[in-house]
Amino acid sequence: MNQRETLKINDKGHLEIGGADAEELVKQFGTPLYVMDKAYIGQMCITLTSALKKEYGSGLISYASKAFCCKEIYRIIEDYGMGADVVSGGELYTAKESGFPMDKITFHGNNKSFTELTEAVLCGVQHIVIDSLGEAEDLEEICAANGTVQNVLIRVNPGVEAHTHHFIQTAKQDSKFGFSLTDGSAEDIINSVIKKPHLKLCGLHCHIGSQIFEIKSFCIAVEKMTDFYKKISDELGISFSVLNLGGGFGIHYAEGDPILKLSDYYDFVKTICDKLKTCLKEKGLEKPYLILEPGRSVVGEAGVTLYTAGRIKEIKGIKNYVAIDGGMFDNPRFALYQARYTVAAAAKMLLKPVKKYTIAGKCCESGDIIAEDCMLPEIEERDIIAVFSTGAYNYSMASNYNRNPVPPVVFAENGKAYYAVKPQTYKDIARNDV
Ligand SMILES: *Cc1c(COP(=O)(O)O)cnc(C)c1O
Repeated sequence: MNQRETLKINDKGHLEIGGADAEELVKQFGTPLYVMDKAYIGQMCITLTSALKKEYGSGLISYASKAFCCKEIYRIIEDYGMGADVVSGGELYTAKESGFPMDKITFHGNNKSFTELTEAVLCGVQHIVIDSLGEAEDLEEICAANGTVQNVLIRVNPGVEAHTHHFIQTAKQDSKFGFSLTDGSAEDIINSVIKKPHLKLCGLHCHIGSQIFEIKSFCIAVEKMTDFYKKISDELGISFSVLNLGGGFGIHYAEGDPILKLSDYYDFVKTICDKLKTCLKEKGLEKPYLILEPGRSVVGEAGVTLYTAGRIKEIKGIKNYVAIDGGMFDNPRFALYQARYTVAAAAKMLLKPVKKYTIAGKCCESGDIIAEDCMLPEIEERDIIAVFSTGAYNYSMASNYNRNPVPPVVFAENGKAYYAVKPQTYKDIARNDV
């Protein structure tokens, strides 16, 4: 647990999120429950936007919606003057319904459908990021039919290996995303896009991975991207006005992960900006509009999931299982890639940890685990179990597996909490069944 003013232990020895006692939240809203510390999200937004503004100038912090997507987060992001990136028609729809400005939307994806591309063009999104020749051709056709010119970026793969779990790395040479900078395929797609009258090529995009703490990997990406901008400028006479470097800043999940302060995130952005300014100067390039796309870091540590402990199974000499009323349907990240989490008993925060527990979900899958080997006080049925850093890639990855309803999301601030996403009902789950 990365303690702060809005995530701490109160006088009763209970966990407090956004000024609200976890036990009170559970009384009011039940479990499982996603709780978001609204103030922390605001602080992250201010930190990242002010760093980009002060250390670089012209650019945009574009929140990666896929980390956590609902109307309320778009309203918050908009309040801080940020942009957003979307990766599907569904995210685009949610942003639009929330009233989010479409001219601050970037649309990504390795396999956008004709329908999704059409929707994005009609909405007037700021940039569509092209990931294949077929997509460029579809997009040209759509724009010609609608008499519009669409600003586009091209997704490239700078081949930087970021330090993280390999399943969530996306920019090695072997990737389903983007055009390689080294085998001529990036030049080919550039040459083909610039010939299309309804596409305006503004620049390139890369995303080197996720949960990155090694800021040097971003600096290498900046180096490679600006080398390529220089090459394109020299060989094709094209100067790009936009550079999008993607997201990927890491957060604290569990022991062993660095614990970062807001000022550390400021420094991440500053380091990238400084590196970029140096490279531009060295290579004699114009200063492009810089887009960064953090997702996890904006919402991840803001989130805490609250569960109620159910049956406890102690297998002598092997393991102690605590079964909770949630599981892989609200948080599939352990099942997907053995993600690690910090767990606490929310009303026993001051009691000594005495026993090792594995937190198991209620789904019919042996792999339905939330966290292994958690040192906790003696756990009893009905205890509140809190899992930290669940604000990113939890609600957005939730499912109705075993026909469990997706839990609601509340935002907590100054001791009060309100629904951002209401609880799903059984009726909701069966709504489209014929
Ligand atoms: C996932 C993704 C992001 C956000 O990554 P985080 O690790 O959540 O910061 C940004 N841009 C693109 C293209 C992505 O795919």
